[in-house]
Amino acid sequence: MLSDKSVSKLIKLEAKRQAEGLELIPSENYVSVDVLEALGSVFTNKYSEGYPGRRYYGGQEFTDQIETLAIERAKKLFKCKFANVQPLSGAPANLALYTALLEPGDTVLGMDLSHGGHLTHGHPVTFPAKIFRFVRYKMKDVETGEIDYVELEKVAKKEKPKIILAGFSAYSRNIDYKKIVEIAKSVKAITVMDASHIAGLIAGRALRNPFDDGFDVITTTTHKTLRGPRGGMILVRDSEEIIKKVNKAIFPGLQGGPHMNNIAGKAVCFAEALTPAFRTYAKQVLKNAKAMEKVFKKHKIRMIGGGTSNHLILADVFGSLGVTGKDAQTVLDEVGITLNMNVIADDVRSPMDPSGIRFGTPALTTRGFKEKNCEKVAEIMIEVLKNKDDKKIKSEAKRAIQKLAKSHPIPKRFG
Ligand SMILES: *Cc1c(COP(=O)(O)O)cnc(C)c1O
Repeated sequence: MLSDKSVSKLIKLEAKRQAEGLELIPSENYVSVDVLEALGSVFTNKYSEGYPGRRYYGGQEFTDQIETLAIERAKKLFKCKFANVQPLSGAPANLALYTALLEPGDTVLGMDLSHGGHLTHGHPVTFPAKIFRFVRYKMKDVETGEIDYVELEKVAKKEKPKIILAGFSAYSRNIDYKKIVEIAKSVKAITVMDASHIAGLIAGRALRNPFDDGFDVITTTTHKTLRGPRGGMILVRDSEEIIKKVNKAIFPGLQGGPHMNNIAGKAVCFAEALTPAFRTYAKQVLKNAKAMEKVFKKHKIRMIGGGTSNHLILADVFGSLGVTGKDAQTVLDEVGITLNMNVIADDVRSPMDPSGIRFGTPALTTRGFKEKNCEKVAEIMIEVLKNKDDKKIKSEAKRAIQKLAKSHPIPKRFG
C-alpha cells in the first residue's frame, strides 16, 4: 500500500475503472501481477548504459543477466538471431530504426496513414518526416483490404527506398510478406515490419511470422497483443551488420540508460508468451474478432477491408448509421465500452471527428471472453449506436456491460 494517499487513491480509481468497463481499444491489454512486480522492482534504481558485458558503470552483475535473459527469450519467441530490448517504446524503436539504417534525405516506403499506417511511419507532424522522405502505398480495394502490390512495386522502382515498411495500427487484413520481400530485393531495400499491434498474435503463432517469409527486421511495442510492460523492441532476423547499427543507434545514438525494471518486465512477458496457454489466447483473440465481425455483417455495417483477419475491426459508423466516430466513441463510453474514433480510408471527415471507430478483442480475450460474449458486446454496441439518444436503452446496455465485466474479472495470472 502506498503511503502517498493522493496517488494511491488515483491508482484505486483507475483499477476500478478498468475492472468495471470493457476495454475494446485494440492496442490495450492487461499485464499479469508478475509483470507488474518486475516493473516495480529495484531494477528501477540502476543505471546500466551500454549492453551486457559492455557497460559504463559498475555493479552490473544482475542487470547483465536480466537483459540477456530478455534478449534470449525474445529471440526464441520470434525465431530470430538478434534482439535489442532497450527501446523505451514503439515510437522510439522506429526512430532508432530510421537512425540506424538511413542518412538524412533517404527514402522510406510505407503504408498510407489513412489506409492503416502509423504516425511514426512518416506523418508530416512527426520529426522523422522532416529528416527523411516518406512515400506511400495504399489498399487497392478498400472493400477487401487487399494492398495494392502493383502500385507498391511501381513506387519502389521509381523512388528507390532504403526501407520498405510494412505494419499498421488500423488495418484488419494480412500482409503478403513474400511479395514485399520480392519487391524489396529488386530495389535492394531492407524490409521492416512494424508489428506493434500484432506481435502477440505472431508470437502466439496465430498469424504468420514475417521472418519466415524473409523479412529483415521487426520493430514492435511490447504492451499491445504481446501483453507485456509498456516498451519497445527491435528484432533482426540474421544480419549482424543491421543489429550492430541498431544497437549503436539506440545507445549512444538516441537513448541514455535503459529502463532495466522495464526490461525485467519484458523478460517475464516473453516467458508468458512462450507458453501453450498464450497460443490458445492468441487464437481466441482472432476467433473473438470474427464473432464481432459476424454481428456487424448481419447488421450491414460497413467494415473497412470488408471484415477482419486479425484482432481489430474498423467500422464506418458514419457511412452506415449516420453516427460520427466521435459521437460513437462518446455514447459507447457512457455505457462502459471504451474504444476510439478513427479515420477510415480516404475519409471525407476530419481526424477530430472522423467517420470510423476502431475496436478489437485483445483485452476482452485476456478477461476470458469467448465468441458468444463478444457477439453480445457487438449487439449491444450496435443497439446503442442506433439509439444513441434513448436513455432507457442506454441504461439497459450499461447494466448488461457491467454484468459482463463482473462475470469476467481481470485475471492476475494467465493460463
Ligand atoms: C502503437 C504503435 C506504435 C507506437 O508505440 P508507442 O509505444 O505508443 O510509442 C508504433 N507503430 C505502430 C504500428 C503502433 O501500432
